[in-house]
Amino acid sequence: MGSMHTGLEDRFWNYGKLAAYFAERSQGGGPGLIVTGGISPNRQGWLAPLAGTMNWPTDILNHRRVTTAVHREGGRICMQILHSGRYGYHPFNVSASAIRAPINKFTPKALDEQGIEKQINAYVRCARLAKRSGYDGVEIMGSEGYFINQFLCQRTNKRTDRWGGDFSNRSRLPIDIVRRVRKALGTDFIIIYRLSMMDLVEEGCTWDEIVSLGTEIEQAGASMINSGIGWHEARIPTIVTSVPHAAFAGVSRKFREHVKIPVIATNRINSPDQAEQLLEQGYCDMVSMARPFLADPKFVQKAAAAKAEEINTCIACNQACLDHIFNGKKASCLVNPRACRETSLVYRPARLAKRVAVVGAGPAGLSTAVVAAERGHSVTLYESANQIGGQFNIAKDIPGKEDFHDTLRYYKKMLDKHGVEVTLSHQVDAEFLRQGKYDHIVIATGVKPRPIDLPGIDHPMVLRYDQVVVEKRPVGKRVAIIGAGGIGFDLAEYLIHGAAQGTSANQQLRNWYAEWGIDPAYQSRGSLVTPEVMPPTREITLLQRKTAPHGKSLGKTSGWVHRLQMKKKGVKLIGGATYQMIDDHGLHLNVDGINQVLEVDNIVICAGQLSVNDLYQQLDPYGKNNHVHLVGGAYLAAEVDAKRAIREGAELAARI
Ligand code: NAP
Ligand code: SF4
Repeated sequence: MGSMHTGLEDRFWNYGKLAAYFAERSQGGGPGLIVTGGISPNRQGWLAPLAGTMNWPTDILNHRRVTTAVHREGGRICMQILHSGRYGYHPFNVSASAIRAPINKFTPKALDEQGIEKQINAYVRCARLAKRSGYDGVEIMGSEGYFINQFLCQRTNKRTDRWGGDFSNRSRLPIDIVRRVRKALGTDFIIIYRLSMMDLVEEGCTWDEIVSLGTEIEQAGASMINSGIGWHEARIPTIVTSVPHAAFAGVSRKFREHVKIPVIATNRINSPDQAEQLLEQGYCDMVSMARPFLADPKFVQKAAAAKAEEINTCIACNQACLDHIFNGKKASCLVNPRACRETSLVYRPARLAKRVAVVGAGPAGLSTAVVAAERGHSVTLYESANQIGGQFNIAKDIPGKEDFHDTLRYYKKMLDKHGVEVTLSHQVDAEFLRQGKYDHIVIATGVKPRPIDLPGIDHPMVLRYDQVVVEKRPVGKRVAIIGAGGIGFDLAEYLIHGAAQGTSANQQLRNWYAEWGIDPAYQSRGSLVTPEVMPPTREITLLQRKTAPHGKSLGKTSGWVHRLQMKKKGVKLIGGATYQMIDDHGLHLNVDGINQVLEVDNIVICAGQLSVNDLYQQLDPYGKNNHVHLVGGAYLAAEVDAKRAIREGAELAARI
């Protein structure tokens, strides 16, 4: 289980929760080895003010709670030492040179010789304290553009002393750190070194430098090498949903030829089958997954019991994990709201089994039904469509969001496993529900597209987003999209693609590398080559009324990928639009006081949603007994997403 910052590491009073989080994942034969989220070796290495730090013997008390809990369950755990260098979001940050990161407003102080020595000592002290806390080892974070990476690359290391210049000087820091940690800790202690195998930034390392570093790190005493992919400031996606599965395992395989110690493959590996394949085909000796363990704490146990289809798969959305962390909130998981809330959101067996009707099999309804049934209630799920999934049926057809199919597979399996009676193609009414004499009725009827009022809106060229994605209505070559929220961006993505279909996974990966400018031979500096942008299949204009930049509401860690993709594909972004009318010529609008006509073949409306909750209104008198509940989009359509819908469903089901 790879390192994943949860936010619980940062406050000592959350260590009980952190212990419960890891213990739940270790119970009954979990991952062979766990690595904690990053812990700083000193104040200068903080990711943000007051971030989790281990530099004082009193820290041992907190960390012991974690190691004891994991060891009690038979697990093994290493602590990641993460010095953020110039990524530290605070004024005390330090680096090789005083060059500000493009993703930070604080310029680091360039360390002098004494300062560097202090940082190395801090790593050694931190590792010693980790051992005293009961950790089985440490992972030294040497990738993703953090402190050590900043010394390794010319991009951030402009020094002319013995820590800069040629690669033997630039690599002195990590080699010294590993050697001195090994010397201080002895042989009975794991040292994982996370090595940046592709920097994906200009002036990154060359392949020869990476191999040379790997062999030196091995000689310095590392027990294993984990693969690090891409700096945080890289403008190439490395973990979002649209990154092909195991997209970077090839570099781990190539690197593995050069060292004898185990090599770990990472990034966008989210199923036991893929992991098994990588091991069998010699890509790596171990596989590390981080987010998949947030999504399903029993990933390994289910895989080992040949129940992989019961795994709640991480869909790489980042919405509740990394987006939370980058917004200063604690991590959780979109598909598993219990992640990091193991002590507060508990699905206890129900004391009294009740009859529960859930209306609507979208994310909110599915989550309610499964958790309620898991707790022992007798649940019937009614859905008017002929399939479960609701809005997920739109998401799963968006290119790059194919993993959403897995969420539906998981829910189907869970409905079956927990004995939920599923009635599809059944539109229930209030009378039917009243007569059912249910103990609880949960209205999870979701949302419907918001209609807009515009002269000519009934023109045949106008389509709703669901008509395009679900009903697969034909769409012309020139398209205007009204509304640039999450769905507007998704629809643009859907309409600009098309070429990848029918090609093999290998070809898709090659195309993806080419589009993003990744060197498939990993030879060039930073593994970068000139991107080859495939021509879009359509001419798209994405419109909004507000003047704020497009895509502001998208996730922090994925929004930039969508925006960059739109730019690459020549999607025209128009903000500050006032829509006037639609006729045979196209869409008439006013932008910046100038009237214009967008001559298009189709106009697709992505103007948000409205709640569908008529049933709740009709059941109101009955609901006064607190037996009728409203969840998800049916409760509030504004900014509803699967994260809120699934969480609300689970929380309700945990209490009834
Ligand atoms: P949304 O994010 O609320 O966006 C609705 C868009 O429609 C806005 O751009 C709004 O911009 C426009 N609009 C609203 N009322 C309008 C009107 N009367 N006439 C014309 N335009 C109007 O809704 P959504 O795109 O349907 O997404 C729904 C939820 O799903 C959101 O919470 C979203 O975050 C989530 N989601 C996220 C993603 C993702 O992160 N990739 C993908 C899909 C869905 P103006 O008012 O400026 O015109
Ligand atoms: Fe995976 Fe999304 Fe859950 Fe994060 S929030 S662990 S990316 S499913």
